[in-house]
Amino acid sequence: MKQAPAVLFEILRGAWITARHFTVNMVFHTLRLFRIRTRRAGAVTIQYPEVKKPIPPRHRSLHRLMKRSGTDRPRCVACMLCATVCPSECIVVEAAEDPDPDVQKVPSRFIIDLSRCCFCGFCVEACPEDALRMDTGRIDLAAYDRGDLIYDLERLLR
Ligand code: SF4
Ligand code: SF4
Repeated sequence: MKQAPAVLFEILRGAWITARHFTVNMVFHTLRLFRIRTRRAGAVTIQYPEVKKPIPPRHRSLHRLMKRSGTDRPRCVACMLCATVCPSECIVVEAAEDPDPDVQKVPSRFIIDLSRCCFCGFCVEACPEDALRMDTGRIDLAAYDRGDLIYDLERLLR
């Protein structure tokens, strides 16, 4: 068990760190209030999940499959490039024949296992049809069950 002076020292050290952060932030916020430019902005506490930080437009969030214009059918032609390039091997694509001779192939099964995905975006870059995007803005992807992190064709087309 720690001795009383050591405990007191740790309490004072914690209080000092808190006070230091408070003062530094207050200085930065005050300078900004007077429109004085500083190298960094003061820290802001965001009350997540009630308040959400704006996501930059190029942020890679939950995937989605694009639809062919005017239809509910996926734009994907099951070329497997996304599955081939994926470093986490978390994409599974199974192809089927499309009755439309101009399209030829469609995915009969398209799965992304988000529990393995590292959100690198390679799949989006590799897609020649612009059929896969990571622009949903959804980052709250936690689930209690690993199975809920498996996104199939239906979920990705939503
Ligand atoms: S973002 Fe990267 S890891 Fe995730 S599915 Fe696409 S290629 Fe795979
Ligand atoms: S790369 Fe694009 S078109 Fe090819 S299988 Fe993946 S999503 Fe479909």
